Amino acid sequence: MLALKILIVEDDNVSALLLKKALEKNHHEIIGVAATGEEALDIMEEEPAELVMMDINLGGELDGIKTTEIINEKFDVPVVYLTASSDEETLQKIAGTNPSAYVIKPFNIRELNMMIELAIFKDKKEKELQKLNNELEEKVRQRTADLNEANKELKKALEKEREIGELKSKIVQNVSHGFKTPLTSILSSAQLLQIYSEKDHPMKGKLMKHSRKIENSVRNLNNLLTSVLFFGKADANKIDYKPSRFFTAAFFNEVIDVVKANNDKDVAIDTTFENVPKTLKSDTDLLYQVFENLLSNAVKYSKNKGHVEFAVKVKDDIMVATIQDDGIGIPEKEQSQLFDRFFRAKNVGITEGSGLGLSIVKKCVEVLKGEITVQSKAGKGSTFTVKIPID
Ligand code: ADP
Repeated sequence: MLALKILIVEDDNVSALLLKKALEKNHHEIIGVAATGEEALDIMEEEPAELVMMDINLGGELDGIKTTEIINEKFDVPVVYLTASSDEETLQKIAGTNPSAYVIKPFNIRELNMMIELAIFKDKKEKELQKLNNELEEKVRQRTADLNEANKELKKALEKEREIGELKSKIVQNVSHGFKTPLTSILSSAQLLQIYSEKDHPMKGKLMKHSRKIENSVRNLNNLLTSVLFFGKADANKIDYKPSRFFTAAFFNEVIDVVKANNDKDVAIDTTFENVPKTLKSDTDLLYQVFENLLSNAVKYSKNKGHVEFAVKVKDDIMVATIQDDGIGIPEKEQSQLFDRFFRAKNVGITEGSGLGLSIVKKCVEVLKGEITVQSKAGKGSTFTVKIPID
């Protein structure tokens, strides 16, 4: 048998006493008898009951129904109404507060017990239902969040695909354009060479000039193709770090020789090496790309008879290299895009280029786990600084 802590709210003393006796006989504990709604709420604040027997017609500000509304809101315990009348109006009023049960006075003990058990049963079921409902809501919330997350991922993937699509068409456009100029040059130089070779007068100078033009154009095309192939690999994450031990002097001499051979500008490259060991361990292919591109740019964007300072020093297992030129510089506004693919500053004039070199440098430095910074002023020159960890 259920034994509950019950609060009686009843303004008629005799009825309250009778009810108390009847409930105690059934092993319930009466935690208080309140004559008004206010008193009932005070008792509940001090020691909440497990069930409230509530007379509907109470004297005072709060009647039974209003008191029940407050109890429902604050304490969440079942309330059994006590009422003397079972007319339609009273029943409607009662129904509005969702009582657990109600007892019509006068009542007998059997009926009272039945109603209490019914109230507790209803309350239990309601709480179970509420719990299920909460769980269901939580599940729906979780699923909605998962769905939103999946949606976001999908959007991101689509966005990436769109970006890749745009980049691909940009590459095709730029590469086609990059092919056109040297191809026209190759064609006209080759035609002129044919004409000169047919004629019988001394065309040695012109033959030299045009064969050099052909050589340069083919080299440009080759560089362009190398860059495109590099990005194909980079986008597929296939640029790996493959370290090997190499002779530093031989390596840097080769880079400088190639840079000089590829540029016919009269620009001096001065080198300073400080604390650089005879051999170093790193990925020479990646290092080659970094220094070849940076030194070529320094020469290419220098004025005639300009100077390029190339300094390398090693400290605390970090190789710090600076490539400084006194050339055209990079306008400040454009410097943030310097490492973007196909970027070329507005002040390059007729100097040829694909706008791919620095983005290749950036990628290589990334794979080498290094960093690159630049300081430049339009018209004054640029200094690129590369820091690369070495073994
Ligand atoms: P490009 O083939 O055009 O030289 P890069 O990617 O190597 O392509 O360089 C991108 C742009 O950055 C160049 O077009 C040029 O505007 C600018 N730039 C790079 N290096 C220098 C430099 N040393 N001096 C001036 N401008 C430079």
